[in-house]
Amino acid sequence: MNPPRSARHRLGGSAIPSLAVLEPATEAVLAEIPRAGVEEADAAVARANAAYPAWRAVSPPDRAKLLHGLADALADRQEELAVLEARNAGKPIGDARGEMGMVVDTFRFYAGAVERTLGDTIPVAGGVAMTFREPLGVVALITPWNFPLTIASWKLAPCLAAGNTVVLKPAELTPLTALEFERIALAAGIPEGVVNVVAGPGSTCGARLVEHPDVAKVAFTGSTEVGRTIAAGAAQTIKRVTLELGGKSPNLVFADADVEAAAAAAPSAVFGNAGQDCCARSRILVQESVLDDFLAALSAVVAGIRVGDPLDEETQMGPLISAQQRETVGSYVPDGAPVAARGDAPGGPGFWFPPTVLAPVDPGDRAAREEIFGPVACVMPFRDEDEAIALANDTIYGLSGSIWTRDGARALRVARAVEAGVLSINSNTSVRVSTPFGGFKQSGVGRELGPHALDHYTEVKSVYYATGG
Ligand code: NAD
Repeated sequence: MNPPRSARHRLGGSAIPSLAVLEPATEAVLAEIPRAGVEEADAAVARANAAYPAWRAVSPPDRAKLLHGLADALADRQEELAVLEARNAGKPIGDARGEMGMVVDTFRFYAGAVERTLGDTIPVAGGVAMTFREPLGVVALITPWNFPLTIASWKLAPCLAAGNTVVLKPAELTPLTALEFERIALAAGIPEGVVNVVAGPGSTCGARLVEHPDVAKVAFTGSTEVGRTIAAGAAQTIKRVTLELGGKSPNLVFADADVEAAAAAAPSAVFGNAGQDCCARSRILVQESVLDDFLAALSAVVAGIRVGDPLDEETQMGPLISAQQRETVGSYVPDGAPVAARGDAPGGPGFWFPPTVLAPVDPGDRAAREEIFGPVACVMPFRDEDEAIALANDTIYGLSGSIWTRDGARALRVARAVEAGVLSINSNTSVRVSTPFGGFKQSGVGRELGPHALDHYTEVKSVYYATGG
């Protein structure tokens, strides 16, 4: 990732470091903001700690009302947030609008969950045993640059609903919607200190949150590499940790599928968000008898992908996030790579990279094994169902994937056999507010969204009441 350009600038009379936030489509500076470090992380944790007793004591109906109010305030600002996200992350405006809609829906879903955080009663001798779901305290949220406010909302909403206070550290490349969120939350009546945003580097600001003794949990989304560092750091204080990490998801197309539909849908499943999507179906596994037909249909779609200005309503794919990301992605398409299809990309300023299909790719090739996080898809043939499953599982990752077949029994058999947390059949969708999302293997620990997320922001307490009976 490109280190953000930094400078010293004056704020309130004293020289403090600043963070220059770029617009990836133009390479121009979009904003200069103060750069948070260790001191700012400590101050944010102190504010969150001070606000915690009062926030957890807010009655469930009142907390639900406050979160509904926040959802309304976010809906009022949806278009403005979408434009800011599109410019800062370089994503097509249509996609950004959809993402901001999901942010609003996520707050509404968990506003409804506040009053349904239920416990159990358990039959025991001599009294009554019951369980409560208690909040954890101060929770640190550390998020990536690919879906900045959306991924933050998946953590913020259940975390606040459960009665925790938060310190959110967005990625230094895309902090703008998170900073705006902090202002919107305060204006919507969320008490001061409950939501705190610190925009600074992971190595200082983020690392401090991970080691801070007053932080009860870290909820992290990012690369598997940084996830390992976070898990190791959190172990020092036995913090709770949830990790949403990388992926190398398979898209399995059987010969008995609607091959044309699978080929038409495959490009957006890997080139969406310019391939910078943890769920990108970047390993397209096609049964060999239909490989040629599939590739022909796929190539036609790839050639027509509109790559360009994120604010143009017609744009389907924007630039990559940074110059460094473009260099990394380019390293997977060296001279002589088996390019089977390639789309267009604008010239001039901006971190552009054309949608690219490599085929056939050896399963041992670096492009087939590593998370590229850019618009590069690998197509590989398979002979039969067993080989398809073996290839799909031959990875350290296990986030998502798709199965295309008209045979219902096969669809379920393969879905049970593929080692991944989120699968779709005859579709490439991975994410819904009401269903659990998360990875097997080195794609992560824990689940976000759906009813399951609340379990990760609460602790189960068991209470026994002797009744003398
Ligand atoms: P990254 O791991 O480089 O950074 C993620 C966040 O961690 C950033 O806020 C960064 O500042 C912070 N960070 C970095 N070093 C840190 C440290 N030592 N201590 C604390 N915080 C630190 O990831 P990225 O490049 O921003 O995002 C891309 C990665 O995220 C990809 O691997 C992608 O697959 C993954 N991702 C996963 C999901 C998911 O839900 N599974 C979703 C989106 C992205």
